[in-house]
Amino acid sequence: MLADKDRIFTNLYGQHDWGLKGALERGTWDGTADFIKKGDGWIVDQIKASGLRGRGGAGFPTGLKWSFMPKGDDGRPHYLVVNADESEPGTCKDREIMRHDPHVLIEGCLIASFAMRAHACYIYVRGEFILERVRLQAAIDQAYEAGLVGKNACGSGWDFDIYVHHGAGAYICGEETALIESLEGKKGMPRLKPPFPANVGLYGAPSTVNNVESIAVTPTILRRGASWFAGLGTPNNVGTKLFCISGHVNNPCTVEEEMGITFRELVETHCGGVRGGWDNLKCVIPGGSSVPMIPAEQCDDLAMDFDTLRGLGSGLGTAAVIVMDKSTDVIKAIQRLSYFYKHESCGQCTPCREGTGWMWRVMTRMVEGRAEKREIDMLFDVTKQIEGHTICALGDAAAWPIQGLIKHFRHEMEERIDQFSANPDKAGSVLNVEAAQ
Ligand code: SF4
Repeated sequence: MLADKDRIFTNLYGQHDWGLKGALERGTWDGTADFIKKGDGWIVDQIKASGLRGRGGAGFPTGLKWSFMPKGDDGRPHYLVVNADESEPGTCKDREIMRHDPHVLIEGCLIASFAMRAHACYIYVRGEFILERVRLQAAIDQAYEAGLVGKNACGSGWDFDIYVHHGAGAYICGEETALIESLEGKKGMPRLKPPFPANVGLYGAPSTVNNVESIAVTPTILRRGASWFAGLGTPNNVGTKLFCISGHVNNPCTVEEEMGITFRELVETHCGGVRGGWDNLKCVIPGGSSVPMIPAEQCDDLAMDFDTLRGLGSGLGTAAVIVMDKSTDVIKAIQRLSYFYKHESCGQCTPCREGTGWMWRVMTRMVEGRAEKREIDMLFDVTKQIEGHTICALGDAAAWPIQGLIKHFRHEMEERIDQFSANPDKAGSVLNVEAAQ
């Protein structure tokens, strides 16, 4: 369990002053200019040595990502783009940073931008986050007024501007290239890669897109040392992480914990346990709605980190932990997620555009049991034809929850079909689900 002295986010719950005065008291903006004076190479090396992996879902090493930015000067500007389009169902961590501790993010933006030789940073905030956007802008205004950003930021000699941009509520704009398109004023549709943003990103210039939490932890890593961060967690899965636990727990919350904490300790220490007790657990979606679920029998010693969850065929994702107890109609839960992905598909590639709707329609029949058992295999086969065959990861995100359902709860799907065929008149109609969504 994470000791209080090792917490990076010390105002996560907004109990203290979010503004500059409070942030300075908590140690934010302490020594920032000194870090910059050590050079961009030093900062990238520190972040690499810390073992920080991106907190937006993919878990790619942050320092390595920064090092992909071109070294030479070809006349194009460099940009840091911060992905604050937090839209993955179950995820509510970046908003806590923006509304309660915005200066840790702003300081991180300056440091990360300097490390990538960027004089400008854009923070793309989810459209629905009105308070967060207002709060963040107010904090940026404070930082400009205090000379912490702007010309000669912090007295470091580096000129740095920071802009807040708000989205319009599309989930797909959380995909980095769709986010860049949207930032450029176009429809938020993912780009084909390569070229990757580090070569051709925002306005055709080298850009790096990072998650809010990834950027916000960097100043503390520099202040406390890469080895401090690397010493927390488990090998290859280090540091602290914001977990957002929702669903059937007694006290849903967002909490900073050590990477690799067990699921059981996480929910029993911070959430008052599973509703109805540990034995009432049915399954958990450990990393936001797009990762496959884990059944209760695998949860006893489940370590919440990238590698363990990947080894179980799931993922840590954004660490949005959605807990489901035995009262859950798990087929209906996944059907609802299918509807979400169908709704959010941008439609530019056929497997995703057609497949998400097809999967949702089949899942809708599966909820009722109005299907044949062979269709379960057909459904699984279609998820495999979508997975890995699309421009962006939304296709995978739509396929994986259904794969998890079939892998772990196929028996429930078959029972439902048996029940329906035994008594079709009694089954309630869910065929008008679209109208009811
Ligand atoms: Fe758009 Fe879906 Fe293709 Fe992604 S996978 S680009 S959301 S159609």
